[in-house]
Amino acid sequence: MENIYAPRFQNEDAAREHLEALHWPDGPVCPHCESGNTKRLPPQRGRKTKAHPEGALRKGVVQCNRCRKQFTVTVGTVFESSKVPLHKWLLATHLIVSSKKGISAHQLHRMIGVTYKTAWFMAHRIREAMKPSDNGPVGGPGSDVEADETYYGKRPGEENNRLGMLRRNRIVSLVDRATGRATSIVFNGTFNANTLGAYLFTRVDRRSRLLTDEHQAYKRPGRDFAAHVHVAHARDEWVSEHDRTAHTNTVEGFFGIFKRGMRGIYQHCGQQHLARYLAEFDFRYSNRVGLGINDAERADIALKGISGKRLTYRRTNGLATA
Ligand SMILES: [Zn+2]
Repeated sequence: MENIYAPRFQNEDAAREHLEALHWPDGPVCPHCESGNTKRLPPQRGRKTKAHPEGALRKGVVQCNRCRKQFTVTVGTVFESSKVPLHKWLLATHLIVSSKKGISAHQLHRMIGVTYKTAWFMAHRIREAMKPSDNGPVGGPGSDVEADETYYGKRPGEENNRLGMLRRNRIVSLVDRATGRATSIVFNGTFNANTLGAYLFTRVDRRSRLLTDEHQAYKRPGRDFAAHVHVAHARDEWVSEHDRTAHTNTVEGFFGIFKRGMRGIYQHCGQQHLARYLAEFDFRYSNRVGLGINDAERADIALKGISGKRLTYRRTNGLATA
């Protein structure tokens, strides 16, 4: 793991400069009119308040020469509306993306020095940012895409299934072997050839070879792909004798990481948050060291995601502002 004492995790100016370099590689761009014709202003005094009788000092202000509006790199993002300093957001993001199995809100709260409630909120915002902005299909001509389903949560009546706890969810995951990336959904509702087909046809390029287990629901949609290999798990034919690539071991490996992480760290995951945890595991798996992405690069991808969602940020996802 990279040094958590790096300046951007300790110091507000360094944190802001890091975000600026990430978002504005060619200099500031106006978020209002997208002009690159801008001018950096000296630190500005904000409105006078009780806490800041002189007005709080606002650094990193840029003025657009075209529309004349002023902005900073965090304008319109969750960072701007949060009372938590930017360097703590960067540290939280770094910790979440670089711990293999995830990190609990309790641990985050102790490590970055914010309240538990704030740490919980921050972690969910960061997870939200890990959802891919590109939901286009995976695979393509000559590609192998593994699809598999698993269950997570408890059946009604099972031990410890208190009200509001996680119910039994069906999760469907895809792994594109060529890119090594995973993408998952919580598949609530009917699971049959129609509903599964609708999902597969949106998320997987039909020119791919589809690899699945023997579940009936894959059979009809499977015909629309370049090829469909169904592996017979029940008979222990995990890897076919004739074709060593005919297996779903990759996606099963992903489920293993997901379940170990959830059991170890996020055992109290609420039903409404499962999709976000799943996005976190998809993200780390899809940006793992084995694919040549180090901790710092992975954190930067997540940070871009947080600010990239500035225009689509909605309060309706059950999260208040911390
Ligand atoms: Zn402008």
